[in-house]
Amino acid sequence: MNFTKKLCISPGSKVRLADWDANDTADLKKDDAQELLGRNITRMAELEYRLYAEGQRSLLIVLQGMDAAGKDGTIRHVMTGLNPQSCRVTALKVPSAEERGRDFLWRIHKAVPARGEIGLFNRSHYEDVLVVRVHNLVPKSVWSARYEQINQFEGFLNATGTRVLKFFLHISKDEQRRRLLSRVDDPAKNWKITPADAAERRCWKEYQRAYEDALGACSTKTAPWFVIPANKKWFRNLAVSQIIVEALEEMDPRLPKPPPDLAQIVIK
Ligand code: ATP
Ligand code: MG
Repeated sequence: MNFTKKLCISPGSKVRLADWDANDTADLKKDDAQELLGRNITRMAELEYRLYAEGQRSLLIVLQGMDAAGKDGTIRHVMTGLNPQSCRVTALKVPSAEERGRDFLWRIHKAVPARGEIGLFNRSHYEDVLVVRVHNLVPKSVWSARYEQINQFEGFLNATGTRVLKFFLHISKDEQRRRLLSRVDDPAKNWKITPADAAERRCWKEYQRAYEDALGACSTKTAPWFVIPANKKWFRNLAVSQIIVEALEEMDPRLPKPPPDLAQIVIK
């Protein structure tokens, strides 16, 4: 579908998130989008099966976004048809003491999907140029070197068989307010809200700036960033699923050939 290309950040471009409409729906209607999502989920499962059978390459999907941008919801709605045997989700939380004692990509590399798998990161190594930058957790000289280190790392992954797709779920500040308020009010959701969410919201501008720099510096031909308009959840789900399907189609995984002596195998 042609709307997906418009969501991709061109390598080396200067990103201004204010220019990206979080309400955009590419002129699609909700009902149509839901039907298309259903088809994408089926197609993704077929392609995943072939990727697994081929066992040569893998796909890594990175999900980033402000609090309440919909990372969990995207995983629930878009990944729902995948086979748990060949798919794994990793949530990258505050690093443990063991992780802090090593380079920032150590825990990331360990979580990269194996050949044949689809891996999904709920937050990622980008936190090391986002939260870490916004809160001055390391000196500027350290975080500013990381963009290039990330590009090298993702280039290496691509060269060794792991395709990387990165999604920034873009919501507006008003939409975040609505969602955080509904978390406070809804007994089924209020376990999700923490005082940290309110504190992080106060740093909205700093986060947007940090995202702009990360998206601009680290969108490459082989590991592109997509800005997903995410105020409308149904469009967010369609856009993410569509980009994943297109990437898998392009990878075109092939079922291995049957054994040459297939005719001799006699099952009694
Ligand atoms: P939810 O949206 O459901 O709240 P979450 O992804 O925010 O899920 P939390 O456990 O609330 O999950 O938060 C994880 C926290 O870990 C985030 O605030 C994130 O910024 C932080 N984090 C992740 N990676 C790093 C890192 N490398 N250094 C410091 N903090 C990190
Ligand atoms: Mg949180």
